[in-house]
Order: sequence, then C-alpha cells, then structure tokens
Amino acid sequence: MVKSNIELICDIAERIALAQAEGDSSNLLQGVAASVAEHMRADVCSIYIFDERDERLTLRATQGLDHSAIDTVKLSLEEGLTGQAVKEMRSICVGRASKEQSYKFFPGIREEQYEAFLAVPILRGRGRIGALVVQSSKSDYFVESDVTALRAIALQLATMFESVKVLNEARLQDEQAPLTKPAVQPVERGIVRGRSASIGVAKGVSCVLDLDLEVHNQLVEQAGASQGIAEFESALACTIDQIKALQVATSEQLADVAVLIFSAHLLMLEDEQFIGRIRNLITEGSSATQAIGKIVDEYVDMFSKSDVPMVREKVLDVKDLGNRLARNLLAEDEKTTDYQGQIVVVAELLPSDILKFSAEKVEGLVVCSGVTSHNAIICRSLQIPMVSVTREEAKQIPDGITMLMDAGQGIIYIQPDDEVMTTYQELAAAEEALQDVSGIHEERKTACGEVVEIQANINLLSDLVPAMRFKANGVGLYRSEFPFIVRNDFPTEEEQTQIYQRLVERMEGRTVTLRTLDIGGDKMLSYYSNVTEANPFLGMRAIRFSLQNRDIFSQQLRAFLRASTRGPTQIMFPLISSVDDFLSAREIVYACMEELRAKGVDFDERVSLGVMMELPSSVEVAEELAAEADFLSIGSNDLVQYMLAVDRTNEQVSNLYKAHHPAILRAISRIVTAAREAGKEVSICGDLAADVKLLPFLLGIGLRKLSVDMVHAPALERSLGKIRMADAQKHAQELLKYGRLDQVEAVLEIE
Ligand code: PEP
Ligand code: MG
Repeated sequence: MVKSNIELICDIAERIALAQAEGDSSNLLQGVAASVAEHMRADVCSIYIFDERDERLTLRATQGLDHSAIDTVKLSLEEGLTGQAVKEMRSICVGRASKEQSYKFFPGIREEQYEAFLAVPILRGRGRIGALVVQSSKSDYFVESDVTALRAIALQLATMFESVKVLNEARLQDEQAPLTKPAVQPVERGIVRGRSASIGVAKGVSCVLDLDLEVHNQLVEQAGASQGIAEFESALACTIDQIKALQVATSEQLADVAVLIFSAHLLMLEDEQFIGRIRNLITEGSSATQAIGKIVDEYVDMFSKSDVPMVREKVLDVKDLGNRLARNLLAEDEKTTDYQGQIVVVAELLPSDILKFSAEKVEGLVVCSGVTSHNAIICRSLQIPMVSVTREEAKQIPDGITMLMDAGQGIIYIQPDDEVMTTYQELAAAEEALQDVSGIHEERKTACGEVVEIQANINLLSDLVPAMRFKANGVGLYRSEFPFIVRNDFPTEEEQTQIYQRLVERMEGRTVTLRTLDIGGDKMLSYYSNVTEANPFLGMRAIRFSLQNRDIFSQQLRAFLRASTRGPTQIMFPLISSVDDFLSAREIVYACMEELRAKGVDFDERVSLGVMMELPSSVEVAEELAAEADFLSIGSNDLVQYMLAVDRTNEQVSNLYKAHHPAILRAISRIVTAAREAGKEVSICGDLAADVKLLPFLLGIGLRKLSVDMVHAPALERSLGKIRMADAQKHAQELLKYGRLDQVEAVLEIE
C-alpha cells in the first residue's frame, strides 16, 4: 500500500534527474526498485526491460528477489502475468497470483511466497520498453491508487529510457560515421542533446535568430518584391506602437527589472541613420524586406566588431528589430508579432534579452554560449525553459519547425512524433499534481513537533508568486543585484526604494532579509566594470565592490532602510572575509541612518545587520563574527566553491563540487554552534538547504531556518514531517566524525 504517491513520484524524479546530471544511470534501476518497494511497503519490486530483437523481457533490477536472477531471468511475452501485461499493454493486478492460470514463478529466487501481484508495462506510445512489477506476501494487498502511482513512475522511466535509447542510436551512428566530419546540417527529425539551464517543458516553432551573424529568419527571406515605402512606413509605425506597448506591459509585470529594457529598440527606430538608410534603399528600388535585411546585417556586423562591450550587446537588439519589422511587413494578423508559440535559438543572451523574450511571451530558449549563473537564475524566476548547446549543435536546429524541449533533461526533440508529444502531455499532468499546495502549512513541524521555518530566496519580484503560494515564512535571501544587472545604468535611490518597499509590503509582516549588492564573479555590470580581472571570483566582488564604491553602497543602504518602515526587515552583507569587513559595512549603515535622521526620513531603528558566511576565513572567525553581528546566514554555494576551490560555474569540475564534503559539514556545524552560543539567529540560504538528503543533518546541528527557491518547499516539508530531532542529532554527530567523503556518502546513500 503506497504511503504517499506524490512522495514516491518526487523521489523517483529526483533519482532520474541525479542519474542524468551525473551521466551515470548504472545504479538507477536498482535505486528505483528499492525506492518503490520501500514506499509501497511491498516485499518485492522488480524492473524488466524488453528487447525488441528477441522479443524477450529480462529482469534488470530487483528489490526482494534473489539478485542472482538479475540478467538471467528472461520471459517471452507469452510467459507469466508480466509477459501478459507487456504484451497486452495494460496493468495487471491480482490478489492471489497462485490462483491465476498464467502466473509463472521462477524457482530458486524465492518468488513463490508472494501472492499479491501488480505489473505495469513501461511503454512509449505503442512501443514496449519493459515492466515494473511489485509483489507482496499478503493477498489482495495492492489497490487502485497503487496502480496509478506505478503508472506515473512507469511514465517517468519511459521518458528517460527514450532519451537514452535515442542517444545510443545517435552514438551508434556517430561511431559508424566517416572520420572527416561533414559540415553541420539542420536535422529534419530527431533529438539534439544539450545541457539544462532552466527546467520546464516548452513546445513551439523554432526561431533561429542568429548563429552566423546573419538575420536567419525565413520571414526576411520570404520578402515579397512588391513591398515599397508605404508598406514600410506602416510597418515602422506598427513596430513603434508594439514596442511602446511592450514597455508599458513589462513595467507593470516586472516592475523591479523592466525599466526601459526596450529603450534601445525605440532609439534605433527613431534613428535617422538606421531608418533613413532603409528608406533610401527602398526608394532606390529594393523591396522593403530586402532593405531591412541588408541594413540590419550591416549594423550587426558593425556592432559585433566593436571593442565596447555595451555596443556589442546591442547586436541581438538589432536582429530582434529586423525580425519584428519584417514580420510586420508580412503579417496580416497581430498574433505573429511576438514570440508566443516559438522557441528562440540564439548564440548569446544578456539578462535583459531574457526579460525581453519573456515580455514577448517566448516559450523556451536555446543558447549556444555557456550559461552564466544569473542568466540561469533569471530564466528560472521567469519560468522560461532554457537549454544550452554548442554552436555546432545549434546549427542542427532548422528554422521554422516544430520542437519540443525538455529543458530539465537538456533534450530538444525536432519534429517530435505524436507519441513523444503524448508522453510529455501526460508527464506535464503528473508534474502539475506535484505542485499541489493542499498539504502545505505555514507552521511547519518535524515529527516530534519542533517548528522549522522555510523561507524564500527571491531574485526577481515575480518569485513572490511561488513564495506566497507555498506559504514562505519570510524571505531569507533577496538577491538585490538583479535590478542592477538587467539595466543599462544604476537604478536611482528612489527606484531602488520602490522595489524594496514593494517586496517588504508583499510579505505582509513576515521578515525580509535584503542582501546588499553581490556583483563581480560571473555577475558583471556591463555599464560599470571596465577592468577585466584574471580571477573575477577572487576579485572585486560583493562587499568588496560595495566598500570600494561607497556612494553606490550608501544609496542602496538608504533605500533598504527606507523600505524597513513597511515591515520587518534585516540587511546582510555578502562575502564577508573578516570581522573588520563587517565593522566597516556596519559603520556605513550607521552613517546612512544618521543622514536619514537628519533629513527626517523614517526607517526602522531596529533593523538587524547580518553576515553571510561563505568564505573559509569567515568560518575561522565565526565566533567573533557571531559576537558582532545580529545574525549569520550560511551561503553554502560560495562556501563550497571557496572551501573546495571548485568554480561553481565550471562544468569541467562540477563532479568535484561536493556539498556533503566532511569539511563543509564541519564548517556549517561550527557556524551554527558559534551563532547559537552567542544567542544569535542563524539560517542557511545556499542550494544545499533544499537537499532533502542533508535535511536531517542540518536540523541535527541546530538549524531551524532554511531559505530556498520555493519550488523545493513541498518536498522539504514532506521530509520534515518524518524527522525526529533526537534521531537527527545522532545522525549529525555520526556524520561529523567522518573525515572521508565515501564514509559520508555511505550514510547519506549518495552514489
Ligand atoms: C550562496 O553563495 O550560497 C548564496 C546564497 O549566494 P549566491 O548564490 O547569490 O552567491
Ligand atoms: Mg554567495
């Protein structure tokens, strides 16, 4: 009998995602079998895989049966209830298997003792992949909800097998291919495998915006020679109206970051050079679309060769404009004027481009450059699925064809068939069920009644929607840099104040933790930083930037303080490396308070000031920092990066980025102890806080506040309800004794 369908499905989804992230699915089936058996309290769970060549099912993993049976037990589709389930493509559930005629048990693997039997075929459309089988010694054990749960898992497995299968086929073809590589051609049907940058499934028509610095879009090429100056003027007027309307709509929906993101578009449309040259070409005899294509290509070429980063950044704007003008020339109906229903493929993306595409209702993005962490964060916050591919891979994607993108797995299906489409529709329905908020409570407790807070990490104000939906206990981390990153200049104190006030008000009395600017590293301001650093993560980043740019820092602090009248607010500083750093930052806060007092501006005098613990040096002075600060917040993403010397954005070393490293566990424990002994609040806000495997450890060392991306809140809450503090403490003490990774991994069951 299944304990919780949702829990089981989540657990399997996590296993699959992990196996895919690690590129290793060897232990996955066994893990799935064990997990299903445990959740369903079944005595046996087995997974069979079907081989089309000999039409036989082979046992590939089992929990409960003798392991010698793995790879040796084989069934034809005529044999047993499992064969029948796969042959007839339907689930078979029987209360007493021994009474069934078609039941076949295998001697020597202890199968005869199990009576209740449930087999669910793993199918992809009409294709057979295998079967999931559960058994119990108790007669009539399985019920209808078990069948439903097992079918949802079979669906997840089918999708994963499908991608593995297509990949294997692709690899096979690759191996047989001649050594000299032909020029990359767009593929008509099949898959392109990239890397996940922001999860989600997108369906739409591909729009290849730029790969070789030409305007690729077919619309421009479809140019009708009959279009003249009158048609161009009308398309121009229409484009200006659309962009102004987009600007207004975006300013309302994305108030924190949308300020004038379309300003470059408008400036270009009013630019006499740009528009004048298109007009000239048309009067000299070119069609309007040819003229647009030619001038846009010239500007793209010119901008892309510029030494000034801000000019180079305008390349995509010009292409987008050319595309838009051409669409307006050809389109009779309004619907084709944005990216609704389309998946855009681009070489590079700026954060502001993502906002623009979001405003233009893009379904998904494929990008060829590596994905910076802030681009990934913005996409996640805006719920835009994004996959990163190499330039060669991108060139396989033709313009104007139907695509389905499973961004969580990094897979792009080109011209997917109906079966793939149906599988994804069913998966989408299963995922929706996981977002069910009916079991979510604002007061969250462990099994023994200890209250634990789950707070929200907020990047854009749009993240407040899931924060409220999943009942966040406040904001544990507001990454204030995003309004700075997406713009062309610094937001004024007034503009900042409005953003922060809105955030604090929307949390309706729950505490909001505002982090001062964390730029530098891979989050650069193109309009400000003109020095290129050899090691930006070790350079002018976060609090170092703020302390060196006191005007910018003070403006932000005054804006924070002014927002503090709207609800409980605290301020924290990122990348503090010493007590001295903290004292310097605090002095500047006090000076800002003095200025506001002098001007008679209200603020909350009790604003707490905290330290983000994300450097090895701060861990070593944790006790002194805890004595000075009002609270500590553990930034585990950076703590892991700096303690292990593993760049968090470098895929080549991502296998070395181990948040459960004994050094990290001990560092976190030391920070928590230091804070508690000093009587100060402590919380954790890096990704580690959302890892359910580490949750018992975090609680066991004394953490009671976790700040996470709120999509993780339901899973965390479900795990929380099963933990007893006494067990968690024992578990934490055990982990802290280990000095080796493999010892920790054995306890946490990390493969
Ligand atoms: C961290 O480092 O853990 C953290 C939360 O900050 P960011 O991810 O913004 O660097
Ligand atoms: Mg950090």
